[in-house]
Amino acid sequence: MLNEKVAIVTGGTRGIGFEIVRVFLQNGAKVVLLGSRKESVDNALSELKIENDSYDIRGYYPNLINETEMKDVFESVKNEYGHIDILVNNAGISSSTKIADFTEEEYDKISDLNIKSVFVCSKIAASYLEESKGVILNTSSMVSLYGQKSGVMYPASKFAVNGITKSLALELASKGIRVNAVAPGIIETDMVKKLPKEMIEPLIRSIPLGRIGTPKDIANAFLFLASDMASYITGVILPVDGSAKN
Ligand code: NAD
Repeated sequence: MLNEKVAIVTGGTRGIGFEIVRVFLQNGAKVVLLGSRKESVDNALSELKIENDSYDIRGYYPNLINETEMKDVFESVKNEYGHIDILVNNAGISSSTKIADFTEEEYDKISDLNIKSVFVCSKIAASYLEESKGVILNTSSMVSLYGQKSGVMYPASKFAVNGITKSLALELASKGIRVNAVAPGIIETDMVKKLPKEMIEPLIRSIPLGRIGTPKDIANAFLFLASDMASYITGVILPVDGSAKN
């Protein structure tokens, strides 16, 4: 479904991002994964190479909110492959901190990674994607639709991701760029393992499809939206959460 397409995936070293990378590779894409540390990037690359030595994959660990570093990444990918077709803004951190304990430092950390990185990477990607008539995909969350009982800046950051998605879909449509988001429900990754059981268990019990989601459930939605099968879809926040509430 993505033969010869070149994709850049932020937060591609584990969890949902890693599965997006794997599914894109399995579908013929060349993928550049971005992570926060050299070690995690190297581990992800070697795991994928062991899986299939012919995968065309490379990795970097730039600061996602530093325009100069990100321009260097996009320029080197363009020089290597000749075109860039897909940007997936997936890196993110969550929170369950109560408002009374929420520090300015945590506010900045969440807003930098979950919002500013989406802005910076999309801004830089736009000129490359205009050439290729490409796609921007963002990882939102079901909490961007319903809110969350604690960790206020996490859902707030995902409301912002939806705003960026819908606004850039409008702004970039005339350049032939589609912009969509996937809003995962509760997915079995390190992020969810870190959250308190008393927060997660009642949520899992309330899922109509009766199970927690897998990274593959989410990666398949990204695959569809990245592919030409979704050529007339833009500005959509697609819930993938096992729920009938939507
Ligand atoms: P994860 O913690 O397993 O992976 C997070 C990824 O982000 C990693 O690849 C990590 O390298 C990267 N990352 C973290 N901090 C970074 C930084 N400072 N700079 C660059 N990269 C950094 O999380 P996940 O569950 O796979 O989450 C991925 C995305 O999915 C996030 O945007 C998250 O908000 C969203 N999401 C997850 C769930 C869930 O239930 N797991 C639900 C809804 C939305």
